[in-house]
Amino acid sequence: MGQAKQYLRPSSIDEAVRALAAANGGGRALAGGTDIIVDVREGRRQVDLLVDLKAIPELTAIDVDGAGGARIGAATPCYRIAEDTRLRRAYPGLVDAASLIGGVQIQSRASLGGNICTSSPAADSAPILIALGATCVIAGPTGERRLPVEQFFTGPRQNVLQDGEIVVAIELPPPVPRSGSAYLRFIPRNEMDIAVVGAGVWIRLDGETIAEARVGLGAVAPTPLLVVEAGRALAGKPATRETFEAAAEAARAAAKPISDMRGSDRQRIHLAGVITRRAIETAVQRARESQS
Ligand SMILES: Cc1cc2nc3c(=O)[nH]c(=O)nc-3n(C[C@H](O)[C@H](O)[C@H](O)COP(=O)(O)OP(=O)(O)OC[C@H]3O[C@@H](n4cnc5c(N)ncnc54)[C@H](O)[C@@H]3O)c2cc1C
Repeated sequence: MGQAKQYLRPSSIDEAVRALAAANGGGRALAGGTDIIVDVREGRRQVDLLVDLKAIPELTAIDVDGAGGARIGAATPCYRIAEDTRLRRAYPGLVDAASLIGGVQIQSRASLGGNICTSSPAADSAPILIALGATCVIAGPTGERRLPVEQFFTGPRQNVLQDGEIVVAIELPPPVPRSGSAYLRFIPRNEMDIAVVGAGVWIRLDGETIAEARVGLGAVAPTPLLVVEAGRALAGKPATRETFEAAAEAARAAAKPISDMRGSDRQRIHLAGVITRRAIETAVQRARESQS
């Protein structure tokens, strides 16, 4: 059983970044600990210094600006996202994902920052953050940078973060009238499992025409994907079953999965279409019902 040699609980972003940069690659951020503590204990990861981010006020704040856009601190636990009525109204697809990461105990610790920084291809928050057009705000020794979530991932459990960099927040664009979002996943059991396929969808309606759409897919490639072709298959088309099926076909074409104990590549490709179509149906229904 492994353990980290040192633990630090800074109260500012600067202090966290300086400590991680000084650790010369031996430091890791700690948010909810639901991935990193398991990895360290089981000896899958050697860590000299754990830098706990939860005492940094900005990292656990949820702010909604005047235009309705949101900034969610990277270490904010999922249960606070799921219970936030402003987020539930504006970004229901994000609340779908936050409500099904692990169970109640995991959601009381696990954060969006930790979910994307672990960078599992099956991370449940990734497809919907991509569909919502979310941006990661990254702080590091040379300052701050912003990156669309779809550009954050570079491979299975790999991402763009350099030594000393942390994700400080996820920013979401303001919701627009007659828009809706949804996240759905397929798992082999009823709960507490990792997605075999996950699909996040954001839709804007103009009457009964889909004016704009974005589709994110998880667990079907080395990284979560923005499926541009699925969005194109929807945009400018009537919100009908035929249109949804064309987008589902684009999702199937984009899926390049592996086979593992949770499912074969053929099953995942089939499911990519089914789950995408169902997520589109829910997002469209939510757009029809949206007041904003
Ligand atoms: C029983 C169980 C069930 C689970 N179920 C699911 C599930 O259904 N869906 C799912 O997607 N995941 C699931 N997970 C995995 C895990 O809970 C999630 O990935 C969670 O979101 C991780 O967040 P965390 O705050 O606990 O991250 P941590 O464990 O604190 O950190 C994870 C990794 O990210 C890094 N990190 C964390 N925050 C930052 C930051 N702000 N900047 C830079 N690096 C950072 C850490 O150094 C570490 O490498 C489950 C885990 C368990 C144990």
